[in-house]
Amino acid sequence: MADDINKNRKKIDKIDKAIIELLGERKRITQELISSKIENHLPVEDLQRENDIISNLQSLAKNTLTPEFVSKIYNSIFKFSKENHSDELAKTNEIFEYIKNNKVIISGPCSVESLEQIDTTASQLKELGIKFLRGGCFKPRTSPNSFQGMGEKGLEYLSTTAKKYGMYSVSEVTAAHQFDMGFDNIDIIQIGSRNAMNFELLKAVGKYTAKTQKPVILKRGFWMTIPEFLSAADYIMNEGNKSVILCLRGIRTFEQISSKFRFTPDLASIIELKGQPLPVVFDPSHSAGDAKYVVSLGEAALAMGAGGLTIETHCLPECALSDAKQCIPPSAIKPLIDKINAKS
Ligand code: PEP
Ligand code: MN
Repeated sequence: MADDINKNRKKIDKIDKAIIELLGERKRITQELISSKIENHLPVEDLQRENDIISNLQSLAKNTLTPEFVSKIYNSIFKFSKENHSDELAKTNEIFEYIKNNKVIISGPCSVESLEQIDTTASQLKELGIKFLRGGCFKPRTSPNSFQGMGEKGLEYLSTTAKKYGMYSVSEVTAAHQFDMGFDNIDIIQIGSRNAMNFELLKAVGKYTAKTQKPVILKRGFWMTIPEFLSAADYIMNEGNKSVILCLRGIRTFEQISSKFRFTPDLASIIELKGQPLPVVFDPSHSAGDAKYVVSLGEAALAMGAGGLTIETHCLPECALSDAKQCIPPSAIKPLIDKINAKS
């Protein structure tokens, strides 16, 4: 008698072990499935598929288990298989989808200069309803003697400030070793114009963001043709991150010999890029290089169909440590916000 009990207990233990292992395997595969859905920007939930699974299993188990029981355990298994899926993935997917489907404004100083500066600027932007807070911390400056950015400390100030105001942070990476210096806490990574053909950096960013699908804003090299720009985006996407946002920011043409504009605004390229699947934003600040042209250029970009704008703002523009000439106070972007809101 005791022998029988022990024998059956052993059998049950074996079955339970197999169930637990299979549930673990089921969850692992579900997580993989969710990752590929996110990578391909497909909806994660599929209720029809869950219903089909349950009704197939109910038929299979019709002689042993009641339909209610099958439905009950499978609803818990679905829940268990999906949960703990990286919050990071869900969040990054949400950010990219938002940018794809809305006219966004990304704004903030050219450089993070102090906690007070980024906090004051962010609070003014938040007041205007801006969701994306930019701030450079590793600055690619023409002169080595110019302010080079606050580096790691700046990223900390930017990410904590963005979190404080419920905004998403955006900052530029200029070299792969900086990934370990706080970029994990930054929501969107920017690759600047000067690095748009730094293929090793493009690949490194693609690799670094492949797992999380963290959105990457790729700025057009100011000498680049459109096919070259799209190839740069391919460098990132080929490493596994499809969440790339293209940013037009002005190109250098013969006009710069005498033009008032720092670069020639590449507004026509908005139309040219419209046929491809990646979102396209326009940067009127760097294109113009002058505060007095930023808003009208932003309006022009929206009229041309830009998916959003990235604009440099500073709580004290005239004191900005970089790009002061093109910097405007947050309140100055109000007409652009009104324009976007009027259309949506
Ligand atoms: C920036 O956005 O701060 C910047 C440096 O822009 P760009 O790379 O387009 O010059
Ligand atoms: Mn700048």
